[in-house]
Amino acid sequence: MTITEEIQALKKEKNAVILAHYYVEPQVQEIADYIGDSYYLSKVASETGAGTIVFCGVSFMGESAKALNPEKIVLMPDISADCPMAHMADTETIKNMREKYEDLAVVCYINSTAELKRHSDVCVTSANAVKIVKALPNKNIFFIPDRNLAHFIADQIPEKNFIYNEGYCPTHDKMQTEEMQKAKSEHPDAKVLAHPECPKTVLQLADYVGSTSGIIKYATESKDMEFIICTEEGVSYELTQRNPDKKFYFTDTLPVCPDMKLITLKKVLHVLKTKDNEVHMDSGLAQETRRPLNRMLELAK
Ligand code: SF4
Repeated sequence: MTITEEIQALKKEKNAVILAHYYVEPQVQEIADYIGDSYYLSKVASETGAGTIVFCGVSFMGESAKALNPEKIVLMPDISADCPMAHMADTETIKNMREKYEDLAVVCYINSTAELKRHSDVCVTSANAVKIVKALPNKNIFFIPDRNLAHFIADQIPEKNFIYNEGYCPTHDKMQTEEMQKAKSEHPDAKVLAHPECPKTVLQLADYVGSTSGIIKYATESKDMEFIICTEEGVSYELTQRNPDKKFYFTDTLPVCPDMKLITLKKVLHVLKTKDNEVHMDSGLAQETRRPLNRMLELAK
């Protein structure tokens, strides 16, 4: 039996579903039941009938899946796969902001720890952040943890007062305008599609700015045939699957998230066999994490 066949057989036997983020290795995306970005996968996790969820992604995704499904088994192929940005805010600052500003909403990017989510009023993803922040009644918005996404949203909602936090995604934040300009001069017909976790100077050079799923949708629906992609390179799997005739380029410094790349087929098989790396969360934390997540799912409808 091949490793893929073993995974498929165990999946059936254990009534498990495999969710994979667009940034994991292609061979892992290939065996997944659902592939998507954080928003889509959190929706799938909240709706699945499977008893076990194998989450091929980083730890905050497993935490969200567990919070939304406390009665289910959530397994992480590599428990050390963690998003550095998810930790780049602190509860002390949130408390201080709540004291300083009246009429404040703490808006938490889904790429954050459960501990940060429980202290927030609502979660957002890059796909729904503008819609959700616009729908909030509050004037003051403390957006955690990503400063680049916060600035991108703030520019579209000038009627709100944004307070910024200095978090960032190390993979997206290191993208450089010089490398983008080089890619543009090498591929003059290519459209530039960028993720809002990139620095503002990069976003200013883009033809389209959106979430990972937004980038895939844009490239798929576009009549253009060439694209420079400014997000994690794992997305090229889905882009080429859907658009075999189109060309996709990245900057010379390939944007790679080392944590997402920790997920391998061997590790998926291992957790299915052993139930190792199960996500545990105390019921109080799960309940308080569910609140901002459910508010997001409600407001994003
Ligand atoms: S790409 Fe960035 S935001 Fe996404 S998991 Fe990796 S470090 Fe976190």
